Amino acid sequence: MYDLHSHSHCSDGKLSPTELVQLAAQQGVTTLALTDHDTVAGIPEAQQAIAQLEDNPLTLIPGIELSCLWQGKNIHILGLNVDMESSLLQQAVESQRQLRHERAQEIARRLEKQGFRGVWEGALHHAGEGVIGRPHFAQYLVEMGYVSSFSQAFSRYLGAGKIGDVKQCWPSLETVTAWIVKSGGIPVLAHPDKYNLTRTKLYLLLEQFCAAGGLGVEVINGKQDLGVTQKLIKAAQDFGLLISCGSDFHVPDQPWQALGAYSPLPEKLPDGCEPVWDHF
Ligand code: AMP
Ligand code: MN
Ligand code: MN
Ligand code: MN
Repeated sequence: MYDLHSHSHCSDGKLSPTELVQLAAQQGVTTLALTDHDTVAGIPEAQQAIAQLEDNPLTLIPGIELSCLWQGKNIHILGLNVDMESSLLQQAVESQRQLRHERAQEIARRLEKQGFRGVWEGALHHAGEGVIGRPHFAQYLVEMGYVSSFSQAFSRYLGAGKIGDVKQCWPSLETVTAWIVKSGGIPVLAHPDKYNLTRTKLYLLLEQFCAAGGLGVEVINGKQDLGVTQKLIKAAQDFGLLISCGSDFHVPDQPWQALGAYSPLPEKLPDGCEPVWDHF
């Protein structure tokens, strides 16, 4: 069972890489990609934790989920099976870490302007040792009672188009895709259905992604409608892209993003449509 999209506390997930690997093994995952946002810091710990498992039931794919900007939208590109020894990869994550830090300071400034207090320290506290992102701000707003839920934090302050949605800082689609290629990884467009694109725009994105060296598309992200899966498999076929699937697991107790559990692929894939895992 393949799960090629997951997060640890090195970005905005809840579990340590060790806990993540243990849960994956329990859930019957046999190949797991750890794809934290803009960092590969959790990979060595995950590898060590796998070595400790009895009978070695799990293969780890070193991965990353890079943030970029395309036509004013914040797009995520998965890098699967990247070479951890790549110095370019190390430079890329260092650059993204710095951008995330500056961006978080801007998010904090904007939220303080709304009258919220202690935002910077609060979000940093929730990020811990991991790279900081909007979910850490959401956790702080909930903790302080400024909003009633994590999802309300996004719908009011942090989601697309809201005051705390800072994205102009991110590098281009071409840049991050080239980083992945040069780091020996397979670039996969993450959750295309989450960007609110028309079909025309989605096809333009896929065209430019392919031109930039993109090789795959995530046709299943967690629990999703069959219609979405069918639409994305057709798009993969139209562009000759490999297909990928993952839970996008962040925290336990979210049934729509449970580790190792995502909507099923159709039993028969259309001709010419190949899974990315045949290419590792
Ligand atoms: P960032 O990487 O800082 O841009 O934050 C993006 C992350 O926030 C995503 O990977 C999700 O984990 C989370 N997120 C984005 N939008 C929402 C939302 N509407 N509700 C809950 N979580 C969200
Ligand atoms: Mn996330
Ligand atoms: Mn994402
Ligand atoms: Mn993700």
